[in-house]
Amino acid sequence: MDKELKEIFDKRYFKGEVRLDQPMSFYTSLRIGGPVKALAFPEDVESLRNIIIESREENIPLFVLGAGTNLLVRDGGVDGIAVCLKAFKKIDLIQNMNNTPEPAFDTGDAGLFVESGVLLNALINFARKSGYSGIEALAGIPGTFGGAVFMNAGSFGSEIRDIIISVTVMNMDGSIQILKKDELNFSYRSSNIPGDVIILSADITLKKDTGESISKRINDYLERRKSSQPIGTPSAGCVFKNPDGAFAGRLIEEAGCKGMRNGDVEVSSLHANYFINKGGATSRDFIELMESVRAKVKASSGITLEPEIKIIGKDG
Ligand SMILES: Cc1cc2nc3c(=O)[nH]c(=O)nc-3n(C[C@H](O)[C@H](O)[C@H](O)COP(=O)(O)OP(=O)(O)OC[C@H]3O[C@@H](n4cnc5c(N)ncnc54)[C@H](O)[C@@H]3O)c2cc1C
Repeated sequence: MDKELKEIFDKRYFKGEVRLDQPMSFYTSLRIGGPVKALAFPEDVESLRNIIIESREENIPLFVLGAGTNLLVRDGGVDGIAVCLKAFKKIDLIQNMNNTPEPAFDTGDAGLFVESGVLLNALINFARKSGYSGIEALAGIPGTFGGAVFMNAGSFGSEIRDIIISVTVMNMDGSIQILKKDELNFSYRSSNIPGDVIILSADITLKKDTGESISKRINDYLERRKSSQPIGTPSAGCVFKNPDGAFAGRLIEEAGCKGMRNGDVEVSSLHANYFINKGGATSRDFIELMESVRAKVKASSGITLEPEIKIIGKDG
């Protein structure tokens, strides 16, 4: 398999690094996960297209890895190729966004073209330095811009969809398509962007504001985050989605699950919807704890929690 996989990258033009048999625990914020056969870092669109086409022709599964901050990879690892777009990290100002004679930012709006591999926090920092407002509430969400678009990431009442104009994707036949916001049906932590397309970039809109007020809002949100969430410990953020009209964290707490532990995974005592890897956790520990917590919440509230994290790979 490895030899065949290596050959795939030699068949057509491919610029970028390829790492074979990589433990996914190195590439996820949870620090859990068995090996992926190949992890590829294409450096340009042509390399990405070639690897997509080759993997499709050879029937090799392919998935996109952002920064792995919303992922639980099972202990048996992932067959096929993980593609990481960290070389796609351009942020450009869109001039004349509204087809006015003036640059967009003079009208009060700023249009930005943002590639998927940009870290969300780098984008927020760029916006702060340039005096563009609209994404401050997302400060502190780890991960890439592409991952945030795919997940419709959000916090404190804001979501990435609020600023999206359009999203550019590559389909599995290598074609490129621009999807307008109203085609995307963004909803809570999801969109109808198909699971098998690759988000290359998006155009977003922000408003002009002073660096000082933007910085203040960012700092306020970061403070709120710090006091309510376990930052700096291995987790994948919220494990379950908030059900309609309720908070998953509160339901888990009310079901008496705070501090519950299975193997090396523990329900955080700061925010019950965060499960922490205490050191040597396995995906089995994690999934078993998810099931126990779900059962307890169902018993105490009648509500069935749905996972927010993406679970991929095979059992070990
Ligand atoms: C401490 C902590 C706090 C968090 N707080 C929040 C929060 O407040 N709000 C929130 O919404 N989330 C939060 N998260 C979860 C996570 O950070 C977000 O969901 C983030 O947007 C995921 O981005 P990523 O690049 O890490 O994606 P990954 O975890 O790598 O991938 C997530 C999914 O997106 C897909 N994907 C990634 N990039 C692309 C692409 N370019 N094209 C197509 N598909 C792609 C992957 O295939 C996968 O299905 C938190 C996580 C942690 C660890």
